[in-house]
Amino acid sequence: MHFPDSDIVLIGSGIMSASLAAMLKRLDPGLSVQVFEVADGIAQESSDGWNNAGTGHAGLCEISYTPAREADGSVKVDRALGIFEQYEHSKQFWSYAVASGMVGDPKSFIHTVPHIGFVHGADGVDFLRDRHAAMVEHHFFRTMELTLDGALIGDWAPLVMEGRDAGPVAATRVVSGTEVNFGDLARELLRWLAAQDRCNIATGHRVVRLRHVGDRWELVVQCVETGETILHRSRFVFVGAGGGSLPLLQTASLPEVAGLGGFPIGGQWLVCDNPVVCDRHDAKVYGTTPPASPSLGAPHLDVRRLDGRRQLMFGPFGSWTTKFLKNSGRWTDLPSSVRYGNITTLLRSAIHNRALVRYLVGQALQSMDHRMAALRGFYPLANPQDWKLIDAGIRVQTIKKEDRGAVYFGTEVFRAAGGSLAALLGASPGASVSVSIALEVIKSCLPQLLHSPDGHARMKQMIPTYDEDLKRSSNAGLFAQSSARAEELLQLDR
Ligand SMILES: Cc1cc2nc3c(=O)[nH]c(=O)nc-3n(C[C@H](O)[C@H](O)[C@H](O)COP(=O)(O)OP(=O)(O)OC[C@H]3O[C@@H](n4cnc5c(N)ncnc54)[C@H](O)[C@@H]3O)c2cc1C
Repeated sequence: MHFPDSDIVLIGSGIMSASLAAMLKRLDPGLSVQVFEVADGIAQESSDGWNNAGTGHAGLCEISYTPAREADGSVKVDRALGIFEQYEHSKQFWSYAVASGMVGDPKSFIHTVPHIGFVHGADGVDFLRDRHAAMVEHHFFRTMELTLDGALIGDWAPLVMEGRDAGPVAATRVVSGTEVNFGDLARELLRWLAAQDRCNIATGHRVVRLRHVGDRWELVVQCVETGETILHRSRFVFVGAGGGSLPLLQTASLPEVAGLGGFPIGGQWLVCDNPVVCDRHDAKVYGTTPPASPSLGAPHLDVRRLDGRRQLMFGPFGSWTTKFLKNSGRWTDLPSSVRYGNITTLLRSAIHNRALVRYLVGQALQSMDHRMAALRGFYPLANPQDWKLIDAGIRVQTIKKEDRGAVYFGTEVFRAAGGSLAALLGASPGASVSVSIALEVIKSCLPQLLHSPDGHARMKQMIPTYDEDLKRSSNAGLFAQSSARAEELLQLDR
């Protein structure tokens, strides 16, 4: 096997590497790009449709993105605004990918699905009403509807209301929410990349070590089938290995990595493919995070289009695991990540996060009856015979020394060695903001690509508002125009 040295090497073939690789090649068509993927197919880990919820996170239904109240009692919406804007970047880039022929039919990876936030109980209703009042003020959320009328919620999402005990309920709805198959999108983007000059994708190849030598990175790459190893050199490395990123960074002798630890959290779904049930639910319905569980994401009942069929998914349920990757991981991943430099962080984490571990073990030991009880909070008449439990992807949350062992639930770009290496740490809000993450990597590590007049113009074609602040009220018109254009190209209903 031989892979010529490259300008850019990306480790992993999920949505993060796929977005960055495609954007870089469009910015500078002369770049040589190499992707290494340990699995024998593209985007089989967290980005695959079955391993995540496919929610186009834009802060529309995720009540957990607006958890805090201001001193005057109003609800704080800054985080939702930020995620909404990042998701606009994604929609703009994907519409550019469709218009320029990089990917085919948009219906193969994105659909319109109403996003509903649902609560019951007097406190929940109060909170949702205040949240709606705060959000609808902003031009991003002007189309958000609110109702406290159970009959109307029953029209929006019949399964949620049928058989429900009387009591206060409320819901918000944005009809133009989206569902995305991030795995299919990554596969399309990388198929385009593989057809470009000086670009190559090697599946079945595991990167086992990274070393910075002079102005180059040296990667030791092992062929999974033969065990043969090669040395690959590149000027820039993106570690987009998902759960495999931390162990790889630990091989690179970077001082910034010494105190980092990883905390894997498995996920599971209840899935239903009974067409009689599936045809009656056309929404993503998000609830609030139960008080007893840490912030792993709120439960939700979603319609999904996977493998060409409508399915319903409910979850996620957390589960305890020591593997960092669902398919290519090993049970020894967590113990093997313990180093002299991070052992204090990990021990602190063990003390600090006892409740989280207890919760995850408890989730893993739950019986089907317990899981069905959780589902009935969303779908009171759910029949256990329609539902089966499947494994979702694994999130490896980052634990940093400076956070004194607290598990960090966000996503962060890690940059090292003068910007010649970037990696993605953390998992949420994840794939939806992959385009903004790619943009951030380019701005912080390869800014020269944007500074030339050509580079700037190319980026403006890909993400027309990348250098604007769409949140500003003076940009409401620009937002309306750019959003309408992206949605038209993506064939989304408005
Ligand atoms: C249960 C769950 C629900 C989620 N729901 C949503 C959602 O609704 N919306 C959303 O936007 N996001 C969601 N996410 C998050 C989202 O799935 C991830 O943020 C995103 O898929 C991460 O993409 P990635 O490319 O970084 O990683 P991955 O898709 O995991 O790709 C990493 C790749 O690297 C490869 N790899 C690993 N180690 C090596 C190595 N040493 N050498 C070569 N290759 C290697 C792996 O095989 C894999 O293919 C969810 C995640 C989970 C777990």
